[in-house]
Amino acid sequence: MTSIYDFSLKDLEDYLLEKGFKPFHAKQIFRWLYDKRVSDFDQMSDISKKMIAVFKEELTIDPLVLKEMQESKDGTRKYLFELQDGCLIESVMMIFDYGYSACVSSQVGCNMGCSFCASGLLKKQRDLSPGEIVLQALAIQKDLDNYGKRLGNIVVMGTGEPFDNYDNVMKALSIINDPYGLEIGSRHISISTCGVVPGIRRFAKEDLQYNLAISLHAPNDELRNQLMPINRAYPLDVLMEALREYAFVSNRRLTFEYLLLKGVNDSKNEVRQIKELLNGLNAYINLIPYNKVSEKDFETSSDENALRFYDLLKKAGVAVTLRQKKGEDIDAACGQLRANHLK
Ligand code: SAH
Repeated sequence: MTSIYDFSLKDLEDYLLEKGFKPFHAKQIFRWLYDKRVSDFDQMSDISKKMIAVFKEELTIDPLVLKEMQESKDGTRKYLFELQDGCLIESVMMIFDYGYSACVSSQVGCNMGCSFCASGLLKKQRDLSPGEIVLQALAIQKDLDNYGKRLGNIVVMGTGEPFDNYDNVMKALSIINDPYGLEIGSRHISISTCGVVPGIRRFAKEDLQYNLAISLHAPNDELRNQLMPINRAYPLDVLMEALREYAFVSNRRLTFEYLLLKGVNDSKNEVRQIKELLNGLNAYINLIPYNKVSEKDFETSSDENALRFYDLLKKAGVAVTLRQKKGEDIDAACGQLRANHLK
């Protein structure tokens, strides 16, 4: 059965029309789902019994089932959810000075095979539906409701490659962004890709104001091939050309994510290569401490080295930020909680 959370506002209007109802009820129903956040059709008190009966017959309204929750000392919360078919996914809530942010998954497992990442320990089982992505954000908002707080930011940076599930991710974000949906502003929504070039090219044509982040992690093909198999399909020159085109048509600033891997990608050499790679592009690079994954040999750069790397980039004239560590004391690495749970 279709979940009502799979419907964009337009989809719901079309559906209502098809069933012989007035499409304007879609906005009312969206209010029940995303503003009042009910989880039962019967609670939609201003919707006709007839319409409710059709919904009950044809649609589901089930929330995600929370299997486990971990909370870090810094307030970060990691949730393990079970889907209708028993698959498990992870989402994270982080607290920043600019507000509450949800990191959502886009797939069950991941096929990108990045050598440092815990998500790829379990191959992709399937794509998430739009509703399953929306429901992660909604579940986190409902958790925040207990504290009277509002979810203000969404990053599609959990398990999975969003541009390997393009349509569902875009539909989910349109619901999250909709003024009648979760009403999270475009500029507070970010998509992170490992470098799926056809997705980047498609995204460039969308005229959406979401932020685009690229997981770079290595500034040369030799190292990037080792760390990220996607680089063999779309090497850096191909990737950078697509990004330059995106930056040109969107006029948006790009974010590059760069994991700090001790002794792997944190030397002076890489500083020079990063500078060359980003030259002339409206972009900044976000240095990210690596969360240890027990199954992998990688370590994060020492704080000292991270700062040195940051300073060198800054001196080289590269726009750079150093990400604050979050949820260090819990299974915060993408896919780690799920992998540990399934063990
Ligand atoms: N597939 C997409 C989005 C999911 S990964 C992408 O690759 O961008 C989100 C980010 O988390 C990526 O930058 C990824 O490289 C990073 N990441 C993966 N494992 C990590 C770990 N153990 N510690 C910190 N960041 C990690």
